[in-house]
Amino acid sequence: MRNAVEKNMKAWRRKVWQMLRRLEERRESIAKLICVMLLMICSSAAITVASPLFVQHAQAVNAHLGCRALMVWPVQNPKVIAPFDKPEQPWLAGHRGVDLSVADNKDIRAPDDGVIRFVGIVAGKSVVSIQHTAVISTFEPATTPLSVGDPVTRGQIIAYAEGESDHCSDQCIHWGVRNGKQQYLDPESLTARRTVVLKPVRFYAINDHSSVLGKAAFSSMLAE
Ligand SMILES: [Zn+2]
Repeated sequence: MRNAVEKNMKAWRRKVWQMLRRLEERRESIAKLICVMLLMICSSAAITVASPLFVQHAQAVNAHLGCRALMVWPVQNPKVIAPFDKPEQPWLAGHRGVDLSVADNKDIRAPDDGVIRFVGIVAGKSVVSIQHTAVISTFEPATTPLSVGDPVTRGQIIAYAEGESDHCSDQCIHWGVRNGKQQYLDPESLTARRTVVLKPVRFYAINDHSSVLGKAAFSSMLAE
């Protein structure tokens, strides 16, 4: 009888040990999955969660796990004046980027590492663009002392909001992000860290994200 109990205990210990080992093996991939989920949550244009504490915890865990936004905001205290509005077809009307307020500071920072791809005038507009690894950031109006081919690093001041543009007056810049296939991406979706100013409100949907992430909404003030 005693031998049978010991045998069972051994078998259970072995099973538990094997289970812990499998969990350990999966820990890294689980962490990565959590990273992706948190980045999606934190970068959502309209985060919809039940509590500001959730966002704070998400960001804390995010930082702990070493998650990093794909891009940083190109201006300080970013405030979106006009959001991205993807055209239904490439040739149709839309807003192929975001317009960000630069009322307080006209520095434009590189959203990510890259090289200066273009500096000049396009259709009367002052344009500076950066070639990142897979996508291109374009700013207007923007002027820069840098030259095509100059390397830039994430967060580096690379240009100034000045010149001509039909998107913005001297109070904002237009930031567009596109891939090599001329497909435009929502720049907001590529950034993650933000200061959240909570206004817990009624349970309603701000946009499509709400149906996925929950039915509570709050407004956020964007800040890197
Ligand atoms: Zn614009």
